[in-house]
Amino acid sequence: MSIVKNLARVREQISAACAKTGRKESEVALMAVSKTHPAAAVEEAYAAGQRLFGENRVQEWEAKSAGLSLPDLDMHLIGPLQSNKTNKAAAIFQAIEAVDSLKIAQRLDKAAAELGKKLPILIEVKLSHEESKHGLAPEDLPALLEALPTLGSIVPVGLMTVPPLDAQQEAARPYFRRLRELRDQAQAKIASITQLSMGMSHDYTVAIEEGSTCVRVGTAIFGKREYPQP
Ligand SMILES: *Cc1c(COP(=O)(O)O)cnc(C)c1O
Repeated sequence: MSIVKNLARVREQISAACAKTGRKESEVALMAVSKTHPAAAVEEAYAAGQRLFGENRVQEWEAKSAGLSLPDLDMHLIGPLQSNKTNKAAAIFQAIEAVDSLKIAQRLDKAAAELGKKLPILIEVKLSHEESKHGLAPEDLPALLEALPTLGSIVPVGLMTVPPLDAQQEAARPYFRRLRELRDQAQAKIASITQLSMGMSHDYTVAIEEGSTCVRVGTAIFGKREYPQP
C-alpha cells in the first residue's frame, strides 16, 4: 500500500471524471482524509505534494499535529463540532466544514475574531432522514443563511454533505444533485457560497459528475481505517 501511488491513482480518476463531464480539473479539489491514520501518513502525503487534508475530530488533530511543521497545510475539520471545542477548532483548522447550527457559527465567529482571522466555513446539510446523522435539515437552511452575514469573522464558502451509508455510488447521485440545487439557491443569497464538498472513496466520481468542487477521500488514499471511530 503506497500513499503516493494511491494519490496518483485518485488524481487520475478525478481527471477522467472531469473529462467525462467536460469539467476542468482545476475545479475539483482533492481532500485527503487522514482521520485515524498516524501523523506519518499526513507527512507522506504532504511530501507527495498534497496540501488539502481533512480530519473529523478536534482532539485527534490537536494530538497528531503536535510534532508536525508543515507550511501551507490546509487542514479542514469535517466532523461534527461541539460548542465547547469551537475555540480550539478555530485555532488549529484552516476551515470548518460541518457547521450545522447558528449557535456553532456564532461561536466560531467569536473565536475567529479573537484570533484575528477570517475563518471559512461550510454548512453541512442532512439530506436523509437517518436519526443518527448530524447536519442541518434543508428546510432550516434559509434561516441560517439569513443570519450568517451578520457574522464578520467567518466566511461561508459552501455546502457539504454525507449521503446515507447505504446510498453508495449511483445511489448517492440524487443526494449530490440535491446539494447542488441547494448550493445554487444559497449562492443566490450569499455570493461567497460556491463550494460543494461531496464525494468519498466509493462515490467521488459520481459526485464530480454532479458538480462537486471538493472530494473528501480517505480509504482510497490511506487504506482501511484500523480502529473504529468512537
Ligand atoms: C471519513 C470521512 C470521509 C472519507 O471517507 P472514505 O470513505 O474513507 O473516503 C469523508 N468525509 C467525511 C465527513 C468523513 O468523516
